[in-house]
Amino acid sequence: MAQEYKNIAIIGAGASGCVCAYYLLKSCLDVTLFDIKEPLLTLLPTGGGRCNLAFAEFDFKELVKNYPRGEKFLYSVFSRFSAGDTIELFKELGVETYIQDDGRIFPKSNSAKEVREKLLKSINKAEFIKEKVLDVIPPGSGFKVITNKAEYFFSHVVISIGGGRFFSSLKHHIVPYKPALTGLKTDITYPAGIVIKNAYSTQYKISGNILFTHSGISGPLVYKISSINAYKEFPYDLNFNLLPQNNLPLQQLLDANPHKEIKNILAKYLPLNFIKVLLGELSEEKAHRINGKTRDYISDKIHNFKITATGTNKGEETVTAGGIDLNEINSKNMESKLYPHLYFTGETLNIDGFCGGFNLQNAWATAFVAAESIIQE
Ligand SMILES: Cc1cc2nc3c(=O)[nH]c(=O)nc-3n(C[C@H](O)[C@H](O)[C@H](O)COP(=O)(O)OP(=O)(O)OC[C@H]3O[C@@H](n4cnc5c(N)ncnc54)[C@H](O)[C@@H]3O)c2cc1C
Repeated sequence: MAQEYKNIAIIGAGASGCVCAYYLLKSCLDVTLFDIKEPLLTLLPTGGGRCNLAFAEFDFKELVKNYPRGEKFLYSVFSRFSAGDTIELFKELGVETYIQDDGRIFPKSNSAKEVREKLLKSINKAEFIKEKVLDVIPPGSGFKVITNKAEYFFSHVVISIGGGRFFSSLKHHIVPYKPALTGLKTDITYPAGIVIKNAYSTQYKISGNILFTHSGISGPLVYKISSINAYKEFPYDLNFNLLPQNNLPLQQLLDANPHKEIKNILAKYLPLNFIKVLLGELSEEKAHRINGKTRDYISDKIHNFKITATGTNKGEETVTAGGIDLNEINSKNMESKLYPHLYFTGETLNIDGFCGGFNLQNAWATAFVAAESIIQE
C-alpha cells in the first residue's frame, strides 16, 4: 500500500471518534467510522441530557489539574486545544454555547440531541460501517481491521472505543479498569435522599454536596473522592466537616433554647432526618440536659463526620479509570510509540477527569491532536 494515500479507519463513533472524523474530513481525507451501534449514542445521556461539553477553565495549566489520571500527558494536548477551542469547535458546527454559574459549558439549547445531530451532519461524508471490530492487525505497512462480518485494510487507524474491550493483536499495555466518578457503598447508611450541602472533605481538601443513597453516599463531592481513590483498596475511612462555613455556636444555641430538643435546634443547620440517625436517642434530649462533654461529642459528630467506604455501586460509574498505558503514546500527536500510524483518542486512554465537562474536553482535544497529526504526516 502506498503510504502517501491515506485511508483512515476510526474505530468507535463516539464523542472523540466523530470529532476526529470531522477534522480529517475538513482536510478531505478518506474516513471510515466503525461502531457496533448507531454513531454518537453515547452523547445522549451526557449532562443529564443537556451535554456538559466542557468546563470554562481557559488556562490549560489549570485545566489539567482536573484529571486524576492524565494530568501530565494532557499538558501538551490542552496547550493546543483547550476549553476555548471546544467553544469554537461547536460554534463551527452550529451549536451555540453558554457558561453556567458553576463554570460548566452547555449548548444554549440544553440538548445533547442537538449536539449529536449537528455533529452527525458535519461528518456525513464519512463512510459508516455498523459492525463490531474484533481485532486490528498491524502487518507492516498497513492495518487489517477484522469485524464480525468482514476484513478491511487501512493506512491509518484511530482507536476511539471508550471503555470498550481492546484488541489482542496490538501489544499495548492496559492499566486495569476501575469505576470512577461513582457513588460509594458505606458501612452505615442514612435515609436515602438526604442532601448535605457544601460539605468539606478534610482529607482531600475539596467541598461539594453529599447525597445519601440506599446503599451509601453519592453526589459531586463523593464522585470526586471516588475518582481520586479509584485504585485504593476498600474499605477506607472518610472524614467530612458537614458545616464548614459555620463553626456551630452550640453552647450559645443550647443556652438560648433550654427546653428545645437538640434535634430541633440543629434542624436549622442540617436535615432533621439526618440528625435523628446521626445522634440517635440523644437527638431527643432537651438542651438544658446537655453537659459540656456531650456538647463536644455532638460537635465532633458534625464537624468530623466519619463514614467508611466499603465498595462502589456497580453500574453507577460515569467514567472508567484505566485504559491504554500513556507511557506508550506520544502526547504531542496521540500516536502509538509501538506502531506508526496507529492513534488513540478519548476515554480508551488511561485518562479520566472529574465531573464538569472534563471528560468530553479530553475526547474533543485528543481527537483534534490525532487528526492534526494524521493530516500533517
Ligand atoms: C451517563 C453519563 C453521563 C456523562 N455526562 C458527561 C458530561 O456531561 N460531560 C462530560 O464531559 N462527560 C460526560 N460523561 C463521560 C463521557 O460521555 C465520556 O467520557 C465520552 O463519551 C468518551 O468519549 P469516547 O469517544 O472516548 O468514547 P465513547 O463516547 O464511549 O465512544 C466509544 C464508541 O466506541 C464504540 N465501540 C466500542 N467498542 C467497539 C468495537 N469493538 N467495535 C466498534 N465500536 C466499538 C462504542 O459503541 C461507542 O459508540 C458521561 C458519561 C456517562 C456514562
